[in-house]
Order: sequence, then C-alpha cells, then structure tokens
Amino acid sequence: MRPKEELYLGIDLGGTNVRAAVIDGGGHVLGQEKHRLLSREPPQVAEAVVRAAKTACGAAGLPFAEMRGMGIGVAGMVQKGTGVVLAAPNLGWKEVPFVKLMQARAPRIPLWLANDLSMAAWGEREAGAGRGVDDLIVVLVGSGVGAGIIMGGKLREGASGVAGELGHIQVQPGGRQCTCGQRGCLEAYAGGHHLAGWARDDLRIALAAARTAGKHHPEVGGKLLELVGEPEKVTAAAMERAAHEGDALSIRLLEEAGRLLGIALANLVTTLNPSRLLLGGGVLSGSPRMMRVAIAEIDAHASKQSRAVLQISTPELGDQAGVVGAALLARAFLAEAA
Ligand SMILES: [Zn+2]
Repeated sequence: MRPKEELYLGIDLGGTNVRAAVIDGGGHVLGQEKHRLLSREPPQVAEAVVRAAKTACGAAGLPFAEMRGMGIGVAGMVQKGTGVVLAAPNLGWKEVPFVKLMQARAPRIPLWLANDLSMAAWGEREAGAGRGVDDLIVVLVGSGVGAGIIMGGKLREGASGVAGELGHIQVQPGGRQCTCGQRGCLEAYAGGHHLAGWARDDLRIALAAARTAGKHHPEVGGKLLELVGEPEKVTAAAMERAAHEGDALSIRLLEEAGRLLGIALANLVTTLNPSRLLLGGGVLSGSPRMMRVAIAEIDAHASKQSRAVLQISTPELGDQAGVVGAALLARAFLAEAA
C-alpha cells in the first residue's frame, strides 16, 4: 500500500467527456475512468465528476477517502482563486461556481480548479517533455488554440486566471469571425473547426466559379472535394491528406494557418524567452505541413537572443497531460501550503 500523502485525483473536464485519474506523486496513472457527459447542467456535471473520480479510485483499488487533493482542469476561462468558471463555451457555461458545486458533493477533499491548458502544461512540466524545465510554454492546436505558461518554475495564470488565451490574440484585425465574438483571432484561422470552415467557404466559392464556367469540378480544391465528397464534410485532417496529394487550396490554407500561428509563437518567444516550447494538439500534430511552416516562422521572426536558448519539441503525455497535470498541481499547492 502506498502512503496516503502520495495519492491525488486529476480531472479533465471537456465539453463532451470527463476524464478522471488517480495519480501518484511521480505522475504515474494508477487507475482511470472516462465517461461521456449526459448533461451539461453544472450540478449534473459535478455529480458526473465525482462519479468518475470514485470509479477511477475503484479502478486503482484505492478508497476515495485516501486521496489528498483533487485538481480539475476545465476547457474554459477559470477565475483564479474563486473556483468560478467564467466561460466554458463547449459546456455552455457562464459564471458557474463549480468548486462550490463540487464541495457540496465531495466536502472532505481539497480542490483546485484551472484552465485545461494550464493543467496540461503543468503535467508536461512535471512528468512529460518539459520535465525540470522552469521556463516552459506548451501550445496546443486542436479545435481550439491555447497556451499553458510556466515561468520561473511556476504556473502563470495572470491576474485573474485567464492568461494563455493564445487562440484569441489578434492576427488579422477585422478578419474571420471567431467563436469568442471577436474577428481576426488566431483560432479563427488555425483552430480545427475554423480551419475546416475556412476551407469550406473557399471551396464553395471555387465550386460556384467552376459551375459558372461550365465545369463540374473546381481546379483549386478539386482534390479536397474529391476526398470528402461535399464542402460540408471538410475537416482539418482531410485537408492535410489532400495537401499531401497536391491540393492547392489545402496547401494554401494550412500554410497560411501555420504562418499566422508561427508569427504569434515568434512574438510569444521574443516576449517571454522560454527555454522550451512544446507544440502539439490534434490539428498541429496531424499536420506536419502546418508544423513545419510555424517553426520556420519562429526561426525567422523570434529575436535571435531568445531563439538561441529555445528548444522546440512535442508534448509526451498526449491526452493524459490534463489529468496528470491537474493531480500534480493539487500536489504542488498542498506542498506549498504545508
Ligand atoms: Zn477569438
């Protein structure tokens, strides 16, 4: 039996699933559970989180009462120190006092809440590709775009907890509409859903032009259309496959998204001077092309002095990073409080 003080729960709460894991002090997963959220109502989600946590304990063969702390990563903006989720678009939440809801259901366990990207970054720092690195930035490009920032060995969440929203920095003022309500955000170009939407828009235009010219298939984007059948079915993954087969539209958009991402990253590197940058997430790790272009932009535009000490690599923990980081952040806070 492991000593009690070495066991923590990590929770990764997305818009569709909740993932829970029992983690030891070394970041090893001893038992885990993932289940689909049947409701997005905050009280029901809190119930689901507690249930998943208890099931993960069961899988590890350890009692829930032995867990020293629980870290919860939420896909959204979390207000530091209050336990309130300010906005979680995937859950449809605004100003939800989630820690309070959790405490009513699991009163004995200390809880910490943070943004899921922050949790993932902490996981990589403690047990993944950023082990021992004090100045680390983790950028994940999936359906959303975000960054977790660790400086001086500490997680940096900003004054109110919403730092790292890299997806919503402006790269094209007045440009494409983003889900946050603004126009021209990085995520409106490089985020998976938006990238596919951008291709759909351009494909519809190309298709209409081809039909006007009496052709059945557009020349630009023709390969992509062939692959997916109709514009509505375009995904970022299909774009990468089409680009690989020489599809000009897919190549142009993936490279443009990579370029905007790379310039944003170059500015981030110049501003924060990290020693390691981990680049991952479903869209970016699925597109060697976007990755290549983004890194070339960092090389071209980050200050020479900051680039000289920067190592760029990929995350190691994959979708376990969130639960591992959440649990180990709970551990770090408990250690700090002791
Ligand atoms: Zn935005």
